[in-house]
Amino acid sequence: MKRTQHCNELRPADAGKPVTLAGWVHSRRDLGGVLFIDLRDREGRTQTVFDPADLPAEVFEAATRLHAESVIQVSGVVRARPAGTDNSKIATGQVEVLVKELAVLNHAEVLPFPVDDPEVAAKVNEELRLQYRYLDLRRPEMTRNLRLRSKVATATRVFMEEQGFLEVETPTLFKSTPEGAREFLVPNRREPGAFYALPQSPQQFKQILMCAGIERYFQLARCYRDEDLRADRQPEFTQVDIEMSFIDREDLYALIEGLLRRVWKRALGVDITLPFRRITFEEALNRYGIDKPDTRLGMELVDFTEEFKASTFKVFSGAVAAGGVVKAINAKGMAGATQGQIETMTAHAKSLGAKGLAFIKVEQGEWKSPIVKFFGESEKASLTQKLAIEEGDLILFAADQWLNACEILGKIRLYCADVLKAQGRLVVPADRFDFLWVVDFPLLSFDKEMDRWYSSHHPFTAPVAEDIALLKADPKKVRGQHYDIVVNGVELGGGSIRIHQPDVQKTIFEEILAISPEETKLRFGYMLEAFKYGAPPHGGIALGFDRLIAILCGTSSIRDVIAFPKTAKGVCLMTDSPAPVSARQLRDLHIEVKAAKKE
Ligand code: ASP
Repeated sequence: MKRTQHCNELRPADAGKPVTLAGWVHSRRDLGGVLFIDLRDREGRTQTVFDPADLPAEVFEAATRLHAESVIQVSGVVRARPAGTDNSKIATGQVEVLVKELAVLNHAEVLPFPVDDPEVAAKVNEELRLQYRYLDLRRPEMTRNLRLRSKVATATRVFMEEQGFLEVETPTLFKSTPEGAREFLVPNRREPGAFYALPQSPQQFKQILMCAGIERYFQLARCYRDEDLRADRQPEFTQVDIEMSFIDREDLYALIEGLLRRVWKRALGVDITLPFRRITFEEALNRYGIDKPDTRLGMELVDFTEEFKASTFKVFSGAVAAGGVVKAINAKGMAGATQGQIETMTAHAKSLGAKGLAFIKVEQGEWKSPIVKFFGESEKASLTQKLAIEEGDLILFAADQWLNACEILGKIRLYCADVLKAQGRLVVPADRFDFLWVVDFPLLSFDKEMDRWYSSHHPFTAPVAEDIALLKADPKKVRGQHYDIVVNGVELGGGSIRIHQPDVQKTIFEEILAISPEETKLRFGYMLEAFKYGAPPHGGIALGFDRLIAILCGTSSIRDVIAFPKTAKGVCLMTDSPAPVSARQLRDLHIEVKAAKKE
């Protein structure tokens, strides 16, 4: 007996057909002596019927002993379900299979958590789900995510191939480079003290591939970053990594817009609108207080620097006098914010260096706030007009240096949006996707503690051509040819046009980033050398593949779209890794572990 159909295939037209199905016992109901078993495989579910009147006693007996998730194979005949017993929730809901034969392929013990009920499963502790990931992945919602992931990977490959790209694999045993994040090191048996590092991205290899004349490269690349994991990060993750020669930013935007359009169509059947909006880093901060704005939420930041520069309210005028700005947002309808909510927002402001949070509650026709008494009529009129203030609103202020003021309100804006969403007062349609290119980032950022400049993204990003002259004179003003692609407030990816002239790259390393010539040679010598032998102008991007799939699946956690993710502590609970190794392995690797981990 061999499987003839999968469990999502049978329809009323199949009535009378003999079939064999195989799968897992999804659920079992005993109705007056007749046993109904929903059989599940990867594709779906089919109801099977064990009628003692129709079966040898030992077969029926065996069926009654089956636990959920046992693996069975049944042969029988398809029939229409009796009138009124259809199940419209499943595709095979109009038929059932009257079982004639049963083979128990494997028994399942009682499960650590049920997999048949999405509501129960959603409440299961995530650590337990990760420990028994193979059970978790049996849940149709999880299978659906993996299926979508596979579909999008294929769509990506097909699209890139159509566009003339070659998929090239680059090494995952690489060497340590200062690209930003901390790296995973791999000790090396042959040369004591010499380490490989797992790549944070194939950045250098893909640029070398351009030097090698490949012209169009892409890869679904595994990347590694040993960072303290924030909620939605994984130590290993996948990028759609891309690099192209002889292009400018416009070519890259068009390529990615085309790719995402294809992916959205394939995955969701949705036609996204092209071209995507573009916004500069400065405008994004000015209007949304963040460089990855969720433009669906409204509640834009409004500038009141002019209005308050001579204010009697010294907190505001003082900030302006110190070269800062005054900004505000109107959290519509949030005048009733609780003390706890105000405290949370104040804590957000303080976490970014503010001394407190100034706000006005507009209630019962009054502006309730200790600061209002300092405001003149024209200041009030300007607030009312520019923020469209109405009864029930909550106005929140930040007065600080520009970037700080923007970021404070940016954080509070997102918090308010969450509150309003939870209260059902801000409704964001699930099928709305606001794509955005964020451009003109500063090439360099200043590290006050170290007293030096560092690359805002990575040291290979080319400056905007007309800003090159400012590199040494006024590094702060230099814009990079970097771009980020953002959707609904999530940074989907980023990239840049690269430096391809060895002298410019050397200047950046040595004169701007103050990396010594010896270190430059040690770390990037091969790149600078490659640039000397005919490097074409080039640029690229990397899209976070896990994040992309999470957005398409409508889940907020990338762990839901990775088959075997790690916890926030970087642990795989199923295999229990990382784990100690034997003394002999350590000896071979010339490694001595100083202090064993204390539990
Ligand atoms: N390598 C960069 C990253 O991983 C992306 C790029 O510049 O192409 O973020």
